[in-house]
Amino acid sequence: MNNLISFLTGINDPDLKLDVDGLEETKNLKIIHLIKSGVCHCPVCGHKMLKNGFRQQEVRVKALPIANVPTVLLIRKQKYICPSMPDCPKVVTKLAEIDGIDRNCRITNNIKQAVILDLPKNESQKDIAQDHQVSPSTVGRIIDSLDNNFTPTANWLPRAIAFDDFKSGRFATSGMSMILMNPVNHRTIDVISSRTSKSLKQYFYRHFTRKARLSVKLVVVDLYQPYRPLIHELFPYAQIIADHFHIVAQAYRVLQKIRTKTMNYYGAGSHESRALKRFWKLLLQKVSELDNVRYHPCRNFKGAWLTNSEVVDRLLDMSPELKEAYDYYQTLISAIDNEDSAELQTLLNRKLTELPFKLQKVQRTLRQHKDEILCSFKYHLSNGPIEGTNNKIKVIKRTAYGFRNFYHFRIRILIALKNSHLTVSSNCKTKNSPSKMTA
Ligand SMILES: [Zn+2]
Repeated sequence: MNNLISFLTGINDPDLKLDVDGLEETKNLKIIHLIKSGVCHCPVCGHKMLKNGFRQQEVRVKALPIANVPTVLLIRKQKYICPSMPDCPKVVTKLAEIDGIDRNCRITNNIKQAVILDLPKNESQKDIAQDHQVSPSTVGRIIDSLDNNFTPTANWLPRAIAFDDFKSGRFATSGMSMILMNPVNHRTIDVISSRTSKSLKQYFYRHFTRKARLSVKLVVVDLYQPYRPLIHELFPYAQIIADHFHIVAQAYRVLQKIRTKTMNYYGAGSHESRALKRFWKLLLQKVSELDNVRYHPCRNFKGAWLTNSEVVDRLLDMSPELKEAYDYYQTLISAIDNEDSAELQTLLNRKLTELPFKLQKVQRTLRQHKDEILCSFKYHLSNGPIEGTNNKIKVIKRTAYGFRNFYHFRIRILIALKNSHLTVSSNCKTKNSPSKMTA
């Protein structure tokens, strides 16, 4: 009989038996009447407790659907009593508990497991709730219960860490949150709600010991100046590495701005403006990767047969400022790609006055962070993996809409990222003790 119960409900409790009413089925509900008795030991003295009748009302517990029909368990629970004795002076009473159903819980643990398995999917909390015929707030509570599995280890941080921000909308006052990652093995360490200095400080002081923070030797970060003093304070032994993507982005943005400026100069509808609009991607492509072999007809240039490389030449002839910006951008990419410190040095030594006004600011910023860029050449680390993660987060945000609070959002990100350090640690836990995961 027990095999049948475990077969139907997935609950393996040897003392859970089918009650006299057995199985009952209505049009759209299956009811399994169960009775739970067996031996129970006193939590105070450890003696065997006396049976003391049954709980008056059956306990109603939702189980996994059978053949797609919603199923409930109606369980009669044994009551126990331990009368007062010398080594157990108070009278102790207890109600039977079932392996596989948490105390005071009206759904079985395997429903919770099924919900957890659905969390990495891009489905809203509401849809997951509907699929498993529980309420959205139950799904919320299940996510909350995972919080313990997703707490970073307080006394450990990797030798190198990387952080980068991503748009999180209303969860953070600034609209941006932070993702913390190990740039060496690309594992996500955590997601931090806000990127302001104050909240980052709070986060690291609260979650990591001083010893863990001191063990950080390298921090990969964007060029945002206010992070510098913060990083020195939190990780006194760490060297800062400027992230490649953000270095290049500086020159990239200026190049794009000067391109639109040139377009406006020639006026909408002019052939220059159209060509600059049509071939903008060629300007951003690495010079070394530009095709200069294959010719194709270009309507923008009166049907002339040109290679991509010739198209770029013609675009650059339209404005000396654009040419300067292009040259700067390409030199920067090449220096960064080849990790060529001499080339970078020559670029940064260019006089400010020789550069277009918009590039002067970039030049100043890059000079300011020169050591950090050189450091990145030395350690070959960058935030590249975070950028990939950011795209995944965007998808999670879009499809799994309707996050009421940041903690649910954070946990769903961490579950969804297969490379998450925390998922790895919780996976290990599940292997050893399946019950812990569904606490
Ligand atoms: Zn007792």
